[in-house]
Amino acid sequence: MDKLTVIVPCYNEEEVLLSFYQEVKKVLDTMKTVKAELLFIDDGSKDHTLNILRELKEKDACCRYIAFSRNFGKEAAMFAGLEQATGDYCVIMDADLQHPPTLLKEMYYAVKEEGYDCCAGFRKDRKGEGKVRSFLSKSFYKVIQKMSHMNMADGAGDFRMMSRKMAEAILACKEYNRYMKGIFSFVGFDTKWIPFENVERAAGHTKWSFRSLFVYALNGIFSFSTTPITIAAAAGVALFVLSLAYGIGTGIHTLIFGNKVSGYTTIVCLILFLNGIQLLVISVLGEYISKNYMESKGRPIYIVKESSGSGKSS
Ligand code: UDP
Ligand code: MG
Repeated sequence: MDKLTVIVPCYNEEEVLLSFYQEVKKVLDTMKTVKAELLFIDDGSKDHTLNILRELKEKDACCRYIAFSRNFGKEAAMFAGLEQATGDYCVIMDADLQHPPTLLKEMYYAVKEEGYDCCAGFRKDRKGEGKVRSFLSKSFYKVIQKMSHMNMADGAGDFRMMSRKMAEAILACKEYNRYMKGIFSFVGFDTKWIPFENVERAAGHTKWSFRSLFVYALNGIFSFSTTPITIAAAAGVALFVLSLAYGIGTGIHTLIFGNKVSGYTTIVCLILFLNGIQLLVISVLGEYISKNYMESKGRPIYIVKESSGSGKSS
């Protein structure tokens, strides 16, 4: 019998956790050929999420949990889940029921019978999401696809079932600045895509503000692409050529018409423009250096404060 680990990152999910458990359990109970384990990762929740997890563990032996010492973010939670999972297959699911549990059977069939290493849910649309957020997200995916030369399509999320082989490959990527969508693409493997409708979260609130999404997007770009440095270099070359042309033009003009003291506005504009570009280029370099700095510290990706046991024997 195959063992399947369902990894569920949870951050302040008290309102939805029990309905999630019931819905997923319903589906897992119908999958007679798998022994399922539900592995919840409490990502430093400040509400009663951890209490609910303790109760679930008491009630149902197939539930396990790990609780972080603080909020480390969903990326860290997914890494911890994969690291602690004991299943032959692992699936990552959001706790808010935005990832339909009914797809689990289809996913299992794909990885078990159809020979895929991974089966991923693909969100068909962004129904229920604000227009501005939706536009910004779509634009971001277009940019990152071009910059990183990796397949990171809009709609391809973290909801995927994968073989142990693929999980091990992901765990081998030990970087501190984690960007899972990029890592999935980086490790490769045959992936089957299953489209699903976007639904609003069953209860509670999204944990992503505009600011955190912006930081996440920048992290994605700087972790998987060096194109910003190439753009900075191209801007430097373009400015050099322009300033050369301007210098030659002004020189010729002075030779023919003499030198009247003028051009104050031009000089101020040029100084401001060039300083702006220089600062921008320095900040791009700084971004890469700071990423390197964080990596060089070799800090743990997550810290556990409490867990329900390793689950290795079960
Ligand atoms: N999450 C987490 N840590 C965080 C933020 C979110 O573990 O710092 C979990 C959250 O509990 C949920 C999943 O990640 O299970 C997706 O979060 P959310 O629904 O807020 O994101 P959205 O669906 O709005 O992109
Ligand atoms: Mg959600």
